[in-house]
Parts: sequence; C-alpha cells; structure tokens
Amino acid sequence: MNASRRNIGIIAHVDAGKTTVSERILYYTGKTHRIGEVHAGTAVMDSDPQERRRGITINSAATSVFWRDAQINLIDTPGHIDFNIEVNRALRVLDGAVVVFDAVAGVEPQTETNWRLADQYGVVRLGFINKLDRVGADVERTLEMMRQRLGTLPLLLQLPLGEEAHFRGVIDLVNLQAIVWPSSAMGMPCEVGEIPSELRSRAEALRLVLVEAVAEHDEAALQAYSNGVPVTPEQLRACIRKATLLGGVVPVLLGAAYCNRGIEPLLDAMVSYLPGPGEVRREGEPEADLAGPFVALAFKVINDVHGALTLLRVYRGRVEAGEVVLNTTTGRRERITRIYEMHADKRVERRCAVAGDIVAVLGMKDTSTGHTLADPQALSLERIVVGEPVIDIAIEPRTQADQQALSLGLQALGREDPSLRVRHDAELGQVILSAMGELQIEVALENLRTRHGVQVATGAPRVAYRETIEHVAEVSHVYKKQTGGPGQFAALTLRLSPATRGAGVHFENHIRGGAIPREFIPSVEAGVRRAAQHGVLAGFACVDFTAALLDGSYHERDSSTIAFEWAAAAAFREAAAAAQVLLLEPVMAVEVITPAAYLGDCIGDLARRRGEIRAQHTRGSTVTLAAQVPLQEMFGYIGTLRALSSGRAQYSMQLDHYGVAPRTVTERIAAR
Ligand code: GDP
Repeated sequence: MNASRRNIGIIAHVDAGKTTVSERILYYTGKTHRIGEVHAGTAVMDSDPQERRRGITINSAATSVFWRDAQINLIDTPGHIDFNIEVNRALRVLDGAVVVFDAVAGVEPQTETNWRLADQYGVVRLGFINKLDRVGADVERTLEMMRQRLGTLPLLLQLPLGEEAHFRGVIDLVNLQAIVWPSSAMGMPCEVGEIPSELRSRAEALRLVLVEAVAEHDEAALQAYSNGVPVTPEQLRACIRKATLLGGVVPVLLGAAYCNRGIEPLLDAMVSYLPGPGEVRREGEPEADLAGPFVALAFKVINDVHGALTLLRVYRGRVEAGEVVLNTTTGRRERITRIYEMHADKRVERRCAVAGDIVAVLGMKDTSTGHTLADPQALSLERIVVGEPVIDIAIEPRTQADQQALSLGLQALGREDPSLRVRHDAELGQVILSAMGELQIEVALENLRTRHGVQVATGAPRVAYRETIEHVAEVSHVYKKQTGGPGQFAALTLRLSPATRGAGVHFENHIRGGAIPREFIPSVEAGVRRAAQHGVLAGFACVDFTAALLDGSYHERDSSTIAFEWAAAAAFREAAAAAQVLLLEPVMAVEVITPAAYLGDCIGDLARRRGEIRAQHTRGSTVTLAAQVPLQEMFGYIGTLRALSSGRAQYSMQLDHYGVAPRTVTERIAAR
C-alpha cells in the first residue's frame, strides 16, 4: 500500500546544503515560482522568522510536493546538535531520508551523529553528494569516508560529467545515459543524451560493478547476469530498491543544488528507492493498516495567530474532520476540527487523513509534541524521551501588558517543546525557564519575542544546581505567636537523613498516639517540601533526603495548618544547616569527535574544564572522546572547540548525573 507516497527527511551537517536542496525540490516539483536563496533570507521551508534570520534550520516543518505519480512529504529535520531532540522526533515519523554531503568536506561529525540516529530508528537512506561545482569536490573521497566513518556500503549510481567549475551533469549508470543541465539558470530542466564516447567503457564497467553488488536481490536480474545478458534498467532498479530497503546499501547521487544540477534524478531516486509508509516495519510501530483503529503521533506543534496547528503522522486507520479522538498520553478527548495538507506556500484542506499521511490539524487544546492520538481502545506509541533541563534563566515581563502575553507564550512554548520547563518563583517574583542547553534557551526567548510578541528582561543563563545534605540531623522547633486573640502554636521534631543520589525528597510520618493530630500531618510535609524547593545554601532545590516527623505537640485552640506548615519549614532549614548542605552540580556526558591532529589540544582543554576522559576510540583519522565535565565549565565550549580545531571538531552533550561540587565552587556559588 501507499506505493506512491514518501515521507522523507533531508539530513545534513549545517551548511552542506539541506536548505538549498529542499528549495530546489520545491521548485522542480512546481510549488514555488521563485527560488528562495538562504543567504537572502527568503527560503520557503524555513517558515519561522527566527529561522530565516539565523540562516540555520531549527524547527521541523512538513511540506507536501508531487513528483510524477508520487506524493512526497518533506519533513524538515533540524541539523543543529543542540536540537538532537528535534532530530529524534522528526526521524521517528520518517520512512526514508536523503543525506546531503558536501563534496569538499565529505562526512562531517554531525552527519555521523544523525546517521547513527537514523540507524537506530531504521530510516532507509539515499546519499546526495552536493556542491560538485566547488574547488576540491571529491566524490571518491566522500564515498571512502562513508565506508570508513559511517560503516555503510555506498552504491554510486552516477558519474560526474565535468569537474568543479565545469561540472555540468552526470552519467546515469542505471539507464546508461548522460544527463546534462546546459546552464545553471534557475529551474533549467535537464537534457538526456548519449554518454560521451570516451567515457562509455568506464560507465559500462561501473554499471557491471553495480549489477554485481545487487543482482542477488532479484531473480530475473540474477538470471540475466549469470547468463551474460544485459540486466535491464527496470530489473536493476528493482534490485537496488530491495537492497536499499533491506538496509545493506545506500544509493548515492551527485549534484550541485545551488547551480540547479542534479535535482530531478534525486527526486526520481526518492520515488524509486525509498520506501512508502508501511513498507519497512519498525520496532514499536503499529502495523500500517487502513482498516484498523486510528493511531497517530503528534510530532510537532506550531502556534500561530490562528491557534495551535498540530502535525500528525497517521500510522493506522483514518480520521475525519469533526471527529473526536483520544489523547492516550493525557487521557483527554480532543476534537479534530480541520485537517490540512501543508504545502510550502499554502494549506490545502482535506476531509480525512489515512494511514501513512502527514497532516496538520486544528482543534487540539491540550496535545503536545510526542503525544499519541488514537481510537479509545488503541495502543499508545512510545513517548519520545525528554532530557532533564540543566540550565535556568530568570525572565520578567517588561510591562504589565507583557505579563499576560508571557504566561500564554510560555504555555505555547511548553507544548511545542516538552523539554522546556517553566516555574514561578513566588519568593523572587520571577519566572524561571529551564532547558537542556544554551541555544535552546536562546531560541525559546527569541520565539517569545517574535512569535508571541512578548518583551522580556532576562538574567544570565545559570547552571541549575541542586543542594543536598551530608549528615543526619534532628531538630525540635516550636512555633509560637501570641498577639491578643487566638495565637499560633505548633511544635515538632524533625530528622533529616541523606538518601541515595536521584532519590528526590521523601517524607515519613512516625507520629503515634496523636502527638500531632492527623489533619496537620499533610501541612508538615508541605512545609518541608516548600522550604526544600528553595534550599538553604544558595536557593537551589534541596533533594535526595528523607525527612522524618518524629514527635510534636499542639494546642487545642491555637494550632492550625498554617502554624504547622511554618514550623515544618523552619525546622527543615535549621536541620539542613545542621546536617551540612552540599552543592550538587550537573555533570555532563560530553562526546567530542575530532581529527586526530587536535586530540592533544582537546584533551588539554577538557582537563582545564575539570573534565575526566572516560573513553577514546579511533576510527580512521578521527577520534571520539567520551568525557564527563561539569556543566558550569561548558559555557562557550563550542567557540573554544572550533578555534582549537579550525572548526573541524564537533561535540554533543547530555546530562550524566548530579555530583557533589568541589569546595571552591560551592563557596563561590554560596557567596553570590
Ligand atoms: P544547510 O545549512 O545544510 O541548510 O545549507 P544551505 O542550503 O543553507 O547551504 C549552505 C551554503 O552552501 C549556502 O551559502 C548555499 O548557497 C551554499 N550551497 C548550497 N548548495 C551549493 C552547491 O551546490 N554549490 C555551491 N558552491 N554552494 C552551495
């Protein structure tokens, strides 16, 4: 089924040409009439104003285009390493991907990271070696890097015609013909002709290599090959398709997107060699089935002036506009009021969506990225794992009017990106936004300004430290207030003891015989938890301890829930101070991928950042370092890494654990 549909992503290292390739695809499929150039800020796929300004693609939008008999849904995957969570989300809904390589740079670290993710999610791939017009473009070297670094078997389907500035077309090895773009003018169609005679025998020899690599996948082709009969283009295409879907090989095409060369054959290859929905079954995915009960994954929420537009990948069944579905993640019902197919320049309304479709729907009130929508009796798709936020920033609205816009804007951002957390610090009168990385915070703030029109003042991004206690401590606290009329009275004994890392906050009630009436116990717990939220050393949440309420007394007339809550909070602060508070800092698992020449400098720099090297692997001339480094030391790391490696090393990081900070750090933070 769905043989004529392709849900496809374009994956690349920043700058390899993903945006340009996407633009040209839109142009050649007839959807846009003017080619948007990235550097002029008019690219059509980058629909977010912020993306346009940054010139890098961060969000994943979906666009439908038509090529020959097929509908291709292009899902734009972000390339930036900080946004691997978005790459994850996008890969989850793709059936196939085109990986764009820069013919000069070859396989770059980010591509390697995304390639491994695509392996993990079972995404079938095509390679497109771009920028063949550039000085230093080298197809052979790029293929060799694909073998070495990506551990894959590239299947070259074309040979370049002309080098560097003279690159004008390709030899199509499957059909044995020359494809030439006579000029680099926008949208100039290709011309198909004879292979130049001096290249004929080389092309035939390479075609035979191709046939040998894949003939086993098709009975007719194998027979022809063993009998020395030429394998027809149709037979060869069938073999390549089967081998590609099995995941053993990756067909590779050539081009120069910027010069409008290579796009039509790429589109043909997407249809010929990438799978339709349901053709490749992946782990944890419901079987694609038009008749079964409806299941869809919300993989993106876009907020605009018309409300929330939710992008869905339908895995099974069908849904019609006006129907009510169950959000199995929240347990709430949602009505889908409208269904759209998204094109680069417009939305086309549809009556229904079926298995394999990517559509945008209106009407969702409480559905976030990663939620499953289903028939009430259907299963839930696994949620996309969301990382722990480790960076905080305090934000304040600039004016009274911004106050309301701010809380609406923050709610919307939270639905779009569940890894952002928002909390209100009543004591400081501030809103604290927490995220997984610096760039993520920057993007969230810019979204607030540009998309939600909120003007905010911010503090500097800070590490989200935590606090904990080192020893056991027990204190008794009496809270008493007498100012005429009924007073306030509460007395209690509280014991704090350290718990294992990651345990959080536990509360135990050891009161027997009514020393404190049962109705006040929840207030004691609330008082402890509230006070723990603000720590005692530097105001960070205090975690990983057990608070035991041992004893207490009360007064018939003067005791109240408030009195017990205050008494508990005061007892917690006293006990924590006595138990010696420790500062916990987030320690990141950092992976650095660097050419071997810069290894020494990378290790030296990590050591200066209190980093510990945990593992080191060499593949070809590239070394992967695994290290643990406190987050505090990682601010601005990307700049240093680029400088010391001439821009060639890359890194990624995620939270590993919270560890006790050294004394010097603790003292500095406590003094702030
Ligand atoms: P992205 O970061 O992967 O989306 O890459 P872009 O599409 O933004 O391209 C990065 C830069 O490479 C831009 O300045 C493009 O104009 C340029 N570029 C893209 N394709 C080609 C190409 O085929 N040849 C040359 N010479 N430059 C290209």
